[in-house]
Amino acid sequence: MTQYGFYLDTTRCTGCRTCEIACRDYKDVNPDIAYRKVYDYEGGAWSAAEDGTYTSTAFVYHLSMSCNHCERPTCVSVCPTGAMHKDAASGLVSVDEGICIGCGYCHMACPYNAPKVDREKGHSVKCNGCSERVEQGKAPICVEACPLRALEFGSVEDMAKRGKVAAIAPLPEPTYTDPHFFVRQAPDVRPAGTFDGMVANVTEVM
Ligand code: SF4
Ligand code: SF4
Ligand code: SF4
Repeated sequence: MTQYGFYLDTTRCTGCRTCEIACRDYKDVNPDIAYRKVYDYEGGAWSAAEDGTYTSTAFVYHLSMSCNHCERPTCVSVCPTGAMHKDAASGLVSVDEGICIGCGYCHMACPYNAPKVDREKGHSVKCNGCSERVEQGKAPICVEACPLRALEFGSVEDMAKRGKVAAIAPLPEPTYTDPHFFVRQAPDVRPAGTFDGMVANVTEVM
């Protein structure tokens, strides 16, 4: 078995959303839903010195994320029909749309807010890792689209050589589901569980 995962270089990602838009186009995603989303995380302040000069501690970084095709996916464990499942060969997690009843349990159980229920279609939807492309030896569309080459996809062994398991704000601690999402951390990146910054685009990523 080859467990696949994603890697993001946060020193390269500019938050341009090309990955997100490419996914939307390729997967024909409902405009209210995103399989891949980009967090803008920012914080810091200006401080005035007695001599009238100002110092800035402002920071911002961008975090492009889809489903993390976790080792222990809570979306799968709560699904009452078996529609949400983890592929035995690739480790990619996807939903069988013909079985899904649209109950939304997977949406509520995922700490990364990845699955959504498409009310028009009547079932859950999410990133499948572009498994139909991966089976043909191709990379996911989001990875191919990134103009900064900040996103990569491959075996977790290869991704782990590039970065560490994502344990950065605003994500939860990775201990909950063991996500297969690895990042190279920019100097300004804050650790998971800290709150000295904020998500600046909350409405967009919900
Ligand atoms: S990120 Fe969420 S939807 Fe994806 S496998 Fe993990 S628990 Fe499931
Ligand atoms: S792997 Fe495919 S489905 Fe998943 S976010 Fe990338 S383009 Fe979208
Ligand atoms: S396309 Fe690349 S640089 Fe742009 S937001 Fe996505 S990962 Fe970041």
